[in-house]
Amino acid sequence: MSLSNTGWSEIPPERQAMLQAIRDSVADSAGYTGRSTLSDRVMDAMAAVPREEFVLPAYRDSAYQNTALPIAAGQTISQPLIVALMTELLEPEPGDVILEVGTGSGYQAAVLSLLVAQVYGVEIIASLADSATAVLERLGYTNVTVRAGDGYAGWPEHAPFDGIIVTAAAEHLPPPLLRQLKPGGKLVIPVGARHGYQELLVVEVDAAGEVARQSVLPVAFVPLTRTPEAPPTN
Ligand code: SAH
Repeated sequence: MSLSNTGWSEIPPERQAMLQAIRDSVADSAGYTGRSTLSDRVMDAMAAVPREEFVLPAYRDSAYQNTALPIAAGQTISQPLIVALMTELLEPEPGDVILEVGTGSGYQAAVLSLLVAQVYGVEIIASLADSATAVLERLGYTNVTVRAGDGYAGWPEHAPFDGIIVTAAAEHLPPPLLRQLKPGGKLVIPVGARHGYQELLVVEVDAAGEVARQSVLPVAFVPLTRTPEAPPTN
């Protein structure tokens, strides 16, 4: 799916309010992030995706509040501000192939799919991978492929990626993800203690394998978990 030329007037009022809340929060957090606005491309993608389709039915009425909300299996759909900011930090280009680890509801994947050529999503809870696949298909996001599995290992068959976004908090940078990133590509990932202090990082690996990391914002994500049966990844 690509971004349609929807005029602002056609965007439902609740969604306009969410976009304004994102603009306000981005301006408020500029001291941390170093950016006071987000690109039009990213804001247009946030405007285009119906978030109510990705939340639990009981939360549809709250879908456009600028807050994280529960999804199935005890997980959460991230706050719209965080989705927009992480998307921006990835600097997505139209031809890009992106890996998302922690696909959850599929909302972040849908936003990204409007900005790049292909999104590959890995979700460790099989029932969530299935429901994300179903909703993305129903809404016509044809350039997203989701599989169930441990995203710590990335998705080697589709690597290298132009960018990787991780939407669960890791305790350290997963080496397989660093290896699956193109030189100059960005890894956007929350790193820190489980349910403790976490920072959103933007990580780049140059052609010589040198890793540069920039801390952007303190955040609170559900933990990146590991399956006991996961094969060794190093
Ligand atoms: N991006 C999601 C946010 C989901 S919350 C959205 O837009 O809705 C984080 C998700 O990461 C949860 O669904 C959780 O099950 C998943 N997760 C945790 N550890 C994982 C791992 N090792 N591999 C893949 N997914 C993982």
